[in-house]
Amino acid sequence: MESNAPKILILTTGGSIAQTWPMDPTLSGEDLVQAIPELRDMASISVEQVAQVLSSDISVEDWLKLACRINSALSEDDIQGVVVTHGTDTLEETAYFLNLVVESEKPVVVVGAMRRPYSLGADGSANLSNAVAIACNPNARGKGVLVTLNSEIHSARDVTKTTSNLDAFKAPGLGPLGYVKFANPLFFRMPTRIHTWASKLHLSSSSLPRVAVLYSYAGVTPDLLEAAAVSGYEGVVWAGTGNGNLPKPLRAAAGEAVRRGLVFVRASRVNFVVVERNDEADDDTLGFVTADSLNPQKARILLMLALTKTTDPAKIQEFFDTH
Ligand code: ASP
Repeated sequence: MESNAPKILILTTGGSIAQTWPMDPTLSGEDLVQAIPELRDMASISVEQVAQVLSSDISVEDWLKLACRINSALSEDDIQGVVVTHGTDTLEETAYFLNLVVESEKPVVVVGAMRRPYSLGADGSANLSNAVAIACNPNARGKGVLVTLNSEIHSARDVTKTTSNLDAFKAPGLGPLGYVKFANPLFFRMPTRIHTWASKLHLSSSSLPRVAVLYSYAGVTPDLLEAAAVSGYEGVVWAGTGNGNLPKPLRAAAGEAVRRGLVFVRASRVNFVVVERNDEADDDTLGFVTADSLNPQKARILLMLALTKTTDPAKIQEFFDTH
């Protein structure tokens, strides 16, 4: 590879893309890259292994480590972009966290695989090669953290895992930003919400507050919310029914928790809803925040970062409305 080839850093964390054995992702970062000789024709690649876990085991500490490494790598003039390999179960969470804390316009692409390397029709090599192609492409700059699987390019904010098929990653209600066709990334739209270099939620602390997600269902009672409020959680995201709704006893319990200092965010368990304020819950009176179109697991991430800046529900609402 010529010396003026784009320099791409690949950070690996585990997941099915590296899983040679059902219980463990055993392939190292080097193994992953060695398995695709074509990568060396596309870019000058360096690899670092940040973690080697299934993504249900990814922790806030892993996120902080990744963010730190990515921010320092992208501040180097000669690094053009970063690719992160990740298990698909929580890939959308890591990608959205990075979308809010990466401080650069350079491309960051998060990639995984739905099939393990030993399966027939394994998709990891094609996905990783597409991720490197995107990271090398000047059109990927300034679009925030991107996610690619199945030749689709998604915004980290909008994408979610929807099935266990090859086309698992979708942006419900919104659609992909583009596609990779014969190693050529093609973009058709831009994310409009604030992200990466312009984010107001860059890291300013070396730990994050505890925020719980509580899931609603017919007959739900307030006891788990009350337990969260006295167990050191600074915030709760409510995965509500429909428009992020909650039954009357929960409204009262949540209002009380807010009076005692907890931040309460209404999201929806429906796969795409823009939560309407002051509809079936009197958000302004009760001091509730609404999650806009973020799903509950992403609303939790925004709230954790927002709580490092303020506990004022009105200011936190502004973050939800803009990021
Ligand atoms: N359980 C795996 C993980 O998320 C699934 C995958 O990578 O597709 O790590």
